[in-house]
Amino acid sequence: MAKSTATKLRPATKTTKEAGRGAAKASAASDAKGKKSGKSGETSRKTRLRSAGADRVERRFVPRASAGAVGSALATSIGGVCAGAGVWGKFALNYHYAPHLLGVGALLAAIGLITGKSPVAIRVGDLGIGVEKDQDTIERMAWYEIDAVRFASNTLSFTGRGRVLSISTVTHPEAAALALAEARARIPARVVDVADTGLPPSSSDAGELIRLEPLQLAGLRCKATDRIIAVEKDGKYCAQCGQTYHREAVPGNCLTCDARLA
Ligand SMILES: [Zn+2]
Repeated sequence: MAKSTATKLRPATKTTKEAGRGAAKASAASDAKGKKSGKSGETSRKTRLRSAGADRVERRFVPRASAGAVGSALATSIGGVCAGAGVWGKFALNYHYAPHLLGVGALLAAIGLITGKSPVAIRVGDLGIGVEKDQDTIERMAWYEIDAVRFASNTLSFTGRGRVLSISTVTHPEAAALALAEARARIPARVVDVADTGLPPSSSDAGELIRLEPLQLAGLRCKATDRIIAVEKDGKYCAQCGQTYHREAVPGNCLTCDARLA
């Protein structure tokens, strides 16, 4: 069932994203694939060190209409109709059951409002995990910031630096699948408690492709020396986990994810 959902959703998102398809495949997700299919030797021989201008992408996932969302919309509508009929019945027709109808209507409308939380879009890619709080705000957690990835009660949660970002596998099965696949490829040691998720196979084509603005490295700290990178051209970063380094202090392997940087 999960598989049919994945194939059903994809055509709908395809049309607007045809252009960037190639670049998406070149992203870390494809590295992950390479590793899984036994080409790890080849992958690890290549340096993952990048400069600020390097191409970076992520994929954006809008929520799937869950049974809960449909139910709450339905409750709000029916509630509205009942309340309307109740008001009409009470004041215009003096209908005996009008007060009941009014009560049921108000209750259903309230349930609809309480359960119908505004849906959020999820982003997964080179910047890590992102949860769109509203149109202008995306709460992000970079791969290098993540201490632990866990799965419980249909929720994939990413914990790090005192924060938690969650992806529901009910409303965002494709986002969760890609996030988990990327986490396993980028920061495998931190995927600590993920058993049977029942997720569809991850796809690097799912969701909408978004090209990210060039990274600003000036002002960030070098992981190796803890010093601030003062000048943009002195900054380098690990493409696997996003960790930043001063170009003169880049270690042979990333201190966070162990990717080859030399
Ligand atoms: Zn790294």
